[in-house]
Amino acid sequence: MNIHEYQAKELLAKLGVAIPKGIAAMSVEEAVAAAKQLPGPLYVVKAQIHAGGRGKGKFKELSAEAKGGVRLAHSIEEVESNAREMLGNTLVTIQTGPAGKQVNRLYVTDGVDIAKEYYLALLIDRKSSRIAMIVSTEGGMSIEDVAHETPEKIATITIDPATGFMPHHGRAVAFALKLSGGLAKAAQKLAKQLYDAFVALDCSMLEINPLVATQGGEMLVLDSKMSFDSNAMFRHP
Ligand code: ADP
Ligand code: MG
Repeated sequence: MNIHEYQAKELLAKLGVAIPKGIAAMSVEEAVAAAKQLPGPLYVVKAQIHAGGRGKGKFKELSAEAKGGVRLAHSIEEVESNAREMLGNTLVTIQTGPAGKQVNRLYVTDGVDIAKEYYLALLIDRKSSRIAMIVSTEGGMSIEDVAHETPEKIATITIDPATGFMPHHGRAVAFALKLSGGLAKAAQKLAKQLYDAFVALDCSMLEINPLVATQGGEMLVLDSKMSFDSNAMFRHP
C-alpha cells in the first residue's frame, strides 16, 4: 500500500524530519486558504496522486503547453489559478499509464530555493536481512535511469537493524553525496531520522526524491513516497 506525499510528509514531520510547511486541499477555496497560511512569496501546488513523475506529467484536458502536476506559484492568485486548472483533471505521468489519474487533492507547500537535488531511499534487503539506504547525487531523476546511465553515481549503505543506524553510516551518506561542513552534518542527522522513521513506521520502502540542499544551507525533504506491505498493516491495524 502506498500513501500520498502529504500523508508521508505529515508522518515524517511528526518524527522531526525537516520538511517545508504544506497543507492538503480538496477544493480551490481550500488551496487558497492553505496558501494564506504559508509565508510565501513562493508556493508550490502539487497534485496528490498515487504515481510519481508528476512534475513532468501532462493534463489530458489541458493544452500540451500547460504545466504539469507540480507547479510553482508566485502569489496567492497564482495558487488559485493553478488549483483551478489541476483539480478534477486527469494527470498522465510516466508512472500512471496512458489512462492517467484524476487529481482530487492538492498539496500546497512552501517554495524552496534549491541549490542541489539528491536521491535517498530506504528498503529492506531480504537476502541479508538488512536495511539498505540508497543515495545518489543525481536527485530528481528516476533511480532506474541513474542506474542505467551512471551506475557509479549510486551508493548503497547497508545497516544491520540489530545495531541500528550508526555515526559511520551517516558519514558514508555525506561522503557519497559529496557534502562537507554544515550540509554534511545536516545530511547525517536527516539520514538517521529517516532510518528511524522507516523502522518505527514499519515501511517496506521510503523514497525521498528529491532531498535538497537549499541556498540557505539546509537539507530538506521535498518529495516522499512511502510504501507498506500488507503484513505491516496487519501488525498496525
Ligand atoms: P514528482 O517526483 O512526482 O515529479 P516532486 O515532488 O519530486 O514530484 O517535484 C518535482 C520537482 O519539482 C522536484 O524535483 C523539484 O525540482 C520541484 N519541487 C518540488 N517541490 C518543491 C518545493 N517545495 N519548492 C521548490 N521546488 C519544488
Ligand atoms: Mg519526486
